[in-house]
Amino acid sequence: MNNVHVNQLKDRLASQLGFTADGAQNLITSLKLSDLDKVRLWCGLRFIDQDRDALRVLFFLESLVAIKQRDKSRQLKELFVDHAEEEEKIDLVDGFFFSRPFKFDNTRGEVRHTVFDDFSQDKTWISKNIDPSSVNWKKDCSSGQAPSCYCIQWLKDHLISIDTYVRSVVGHLYEMRCAVVHEAFPVIFFEPNRTDSALDVHPIGPKPDDFISHEVTIKPERFFEIGRNVARRYLLSKV
Ligand SMILES: [Zn+2]
Repeated sequence: MNNVHVNQLKDRLASQLGFTADGAQNLITSLKLSDLDKVRLWCGLRFIDQDRDALRVLFFLESLVAIKQRDKSRQLKELFVDHAEEEEKIDLVDGFFFSRPFKFDNTRGEVRHTVFDDFSQDKTWISKNIDPSSVNWKKDCSSGQAPSCYCIQWLKDHLISIDTYVRSVVGHLYEMRCAVVHEAFPVIFFEPNRTDSALDVHPIGPKPDDFISHEVTIKPERFFEIGRNVARRYLLSKV
């Protein structure tokens, strides 16, 4: 852990837990933290930063529809399907990228939009919309607009299927939540510097070495706004 990261750890101990600068340094020194312990503590403090804590949103929504109930993942998916508006669904599908599952620490695959597989097999649409010599559309998938990635352009032409991809994204988010809750794995949803996307990994399923990589490009404020809107509409639907 380099000095920049140690200073960031001290800053977070000060801003989030109320330590003085000297007190934070004394704590790190007296606890004899290993580099891994410092990273874990630093990640933990990032994790509880209320301003960008997606888990708080997920837990809140979960508490609305699935508390004390089984099949929480399905209920969370249907909550977004039923109460997010079309533009919000597009932003959700656009804002999250996932790899296929892989064994730690094998090389992971590309992180891609959840629509990528369906888009990349749609030969008719591709022949109409993409010049095959202009871009490497078989490989490129990013938050940038076409020509680097055509997924969302394809999605807007196939809005009848959008709920399939909303369920896929929310299912992944639920897995990320489970990694935190059941595996005590400090999953990062958003980077402190909000101009950056967050690229991280999370464990999935019962085996300890099964992972998925994720990239998040949606802005935290937009994610929180969608979450609040979904909650409000759900509550209003119950009135
Ligand atoms: Zn894409």
